[in-house]
Parts: sequence; C-alpha cells; structure tokens
Amino acid sequence: MKSDYDIVICGGGMIGAALATLLAPQGFSIALVEAATPAEYDLSQEFDLRICALSPKSAEVMQRSGAWERLQKMRLCPYKRMRVWEVAGFGDITFKAHQVGAPELGHIVENRLVQLSLWQALGDYKNVDVICPAFPKKFTRDVKGTVIELDTGQRLSARLVVGADGAQSKVRQGFGIGVNRGQYQQACLVASVTTGLGQQDITWQRFVNTGPQAFLPMLGQHGSVVWYHQADMARALSKLSNEALSDEIMNQFPKQLGKIKVTHKATFGLQKQHAQSYCEHGVVLVGDAAHVINPLAGQGVNLGFQDVACLASVLIKADSQGQDWSSLEVLLNYQKQRKLANGIMLHSMDLFHHGFSHTSSKSKWVRNLVLACAKVPLVKRQVIKYAMGLSSST
Ligand SMILES: Cc1cc2nc3c(=O)[nH]c(=O)nc-3n(C[C@H](O)[C@H](O)[C@H](O)COP(=O)(O)OP(=O)(O)OC[C@H]3O[C@@H](n4cnc5c(N)ncnc54)[C@H](O)[C@@H]3O)c2cc1C
Repeated sequence: MKSDYDIVICGGGMIGAALATLLAPQGFSIALVEAATPAEYDLSQEFDLRICALSPKSAEVMQRSGAWERLQKMRLCPYKRMRVWEVAGFGDITFKAHQVGAPELGHIVENRLVQLSLWQALGDYKNVDVICPAFPKKFTRDVKGTVIELDTGQRLSARLVVGADGAQSKVRQGFGIGVNRGQYQQACLVASVTTGLGQQDITWQRFVNTGPQAFLPMLGQHGSVVWYHQADMARALSKLSNEALSDEIMNQFPKQLGKIKVTHKATFGLQKQHAQSYCEHGVVLVGDAAHVINPLAGQGVNLGFQDVACLASVLIKADSQGQDWSSLEVLLNYQKQRKLANGIMLHSMDLFHHGFSHTSSKSKWVRNLVLACAKVPLVKRQVIKYAMGLSSST
C-alpha cells in the first residue's frame, strides 16, 4: 500500500465515507482511516439501534456517490408523513410529502448500512485505500503537507487532512482547533422495538412535560422509540429489563403502536458543540467533528451530508482551475458556506429544545401558537422543505 496521498480522511463513518465517494471520481489519491470495520449485512440481522432520518437532500448525495442503490438493496424505510403535537394542547400538525409534491419526506436508515453501502461504492475506485482498523496517533506538519502516524506504525503523508472522526475528533484536537460546547440536562433513551400494530408511513413526535417522545418506523412491524427525559431518569429507564421498559413505554406513549416489545436499548447524552473554525491550511473538518446538534429534529447527519457536498464541490472546482485546493483560501470558501448554516440549525435546535422544555402556561401557549402557525399552508410548505434540506444553498 502506498503512503503518499493527496487526501487522508480520518473517520470512515457515514460522513467521511461519503466525502471519499464524491472525491474519488476526480482522481484524487485518498486514504480513508477508520477505527472499526462495519459488520457485513445479512437479511436475518436484527435492526440496529443506531438509526437516523435521512433527508431527500442527503439521499441525493448518496445517489451521486453510487451508494443509494446499494442501500436500497439492503433495507430502509420511507416515510411520507410526520406528525408533531403537544399533549393537552391545541397544537397538532401533520406534514405530508404530497404537500410539496414529493414522494416521501425522507427515509429511516440504519447508520451502519449507510456506511456499508458507501464503503461498497468505494470498492469501485483504485485510487482509494481504506485503512482499517487504524487510528491516527500524531500529526506533524512538513513542507509538503502533514505526516500522519497511525497506531499500526504506518506513516501517511497528505496535502489535505480531513477530520470526519466525530464529536471527539482527534484531528480537531491534534491541530488545536477549539470548540464552543454545552450540555443539555436531558438525555434520550433509544429503543429498538417491534409493535403489535403496523406503523405504515408515519414518523411522529409528541411533547409531554418531561420532554419529547418520538417514534420512527422501520420495515414491517419494527421501529424505534426515542424518549427524552431528565438525564438521570433516562439512564434509570435504560437499566430496566426489556420487558419492564416495554410496559413503561406502553403506559407512557400514545396507544397507536399496539403491544410494544423492546429488543435493544441505550441512552445518549445530549450536547451541542461547534468548532470555532472549520479549516486551516491543509486541514478541514466535516460532520460531527465540526458540529454536534441536539438530535431533536433529526438533522445532525443531514448537515454532515451538506458539508460533504459543499466541500467536494469546492475542492473539485479549485482543482479544475489549477488552484492549490489544500490552501486556506480555498478551504475558507467551504467554511463560509457551511459554518453559518450549521450555526443557525444548532441555535434553532437549542431554541426548540428550551421552548418545548418549559412547563409554564405562557411557554405552552407560545409553542401551541408556533404549531398553529405552522398549519398555514405557505408556512407549512416552507417548514417541510427546510426539514427535507430543499431550501438550503448547497
Ligand atoms: C440518539 C441520536 C439520534 C440521532 N438521530 C439523527 C437523525 O435522525 N437524523 C440525523 O440527521 N442525525 C441524527 N443524529 C446525529 C447523527 O448520528 C450524527 O450527526 C452522525 O452520526 C455524524 O456522522 P459522522 O460520520 O460525522 O460522525 P460519526 O458517526 O461519529 O462517525 C465517526 C467515524 O469516525 C471513526 N473514528 C472516530 N475516531 C476515530 C479515530 N481517531 N480514528 C479513526 N476513526 C475514528 C468512528 O469509528 C466512526 O466510524 C442522531 C444522534 C444521536 C446521538
């Protein structure tokens, strides 16, 4: 295996792998360094716990990358409607795909299968090496770029290092890029479930005093329950046996799912984090390495896909114009397009979280008013398009 690359992408999750697939056709020599190999897919496997709602805009990136068809051959679940309401309030709204002339609002996908389909698409390119399992231990700058020492003892050199290694990014830390961060009091319990009743094509989220309760449909009578609560309560819930948690969900959640059976569960702490800068000369951050948002509206990875589409087009344009595509000047074009957009989403989720966590009658009145306003057809269409990623600039 060679050791000199144009681009070394650290982190081969959904975002790092997607970036590699978009850059590979341009002929860049790329190394994708990833700590863990995703398990192969097999139809008899149980559904993974880690899932996300992928917007049509992200699906478009997956199509360009050659991974979408591969993912469709594994499994994913389209949803056409999304209902949001508040218990004992007057705000109750259902967004429907046909209201914006779209076949669906998005797809519920298993994170591992998205990653796997992207890795399969990378198999088509001889100019991409996947180095796994491995992680970077040290970054040293030299005149040509950066030397990356891996835990395996291998030394790679690159003109551009990409940090796609998630919230605890070693690339970000290694290059001394700071973050602004905050922790929420709430955590969320995620449970894979089977349901007595079919859940068709709808995902829903309802707000109760303790936080949101959501359901995301998977194929057949499978799905995912997401329960936001005070962090200690969420942890206590995840310590219950699967049977006891199933009972608790049936008592506390809307009744439309029929008999619930929990198969897997885990709790996730909620944080917000934004890198103070997305790039330096020869270094750039994408996805959760650059920004982590409250998963309340399921937008985190979708922002990452937009980062990837934007960065790939900036690099390819600079390359075709004979510019130094690893220069700070070029990378700042990416930062300019993505940092503000991601910051707006991060703060919107923050406002949403705080607005929907207060129990005072005044806050309740305000959020019911917000939900009522969203029923106005023009506003509703804009909300749907924003959630689908169709109203952004990239
Ligand atoms: C409970 C929950 C629900 C969510 N739901 C949604 C949703 O519905 N929709 C949505 O858009 N987003 C959702 N998100 C957010 C989404 O999961 C993240 O935004 C997304 O996983 C970020 O992808 P990434 O590739 O940037 O980072 P990661 O998924 O963190 O991947 C990073 C990759 O880098 C590897 N890695 C890490 N460190 C190193 C290292 N030092 N060396 C080599 N490799 C390394 C890891 O193994 C991993 O493969 C949710 C998040 C949570 C917590």
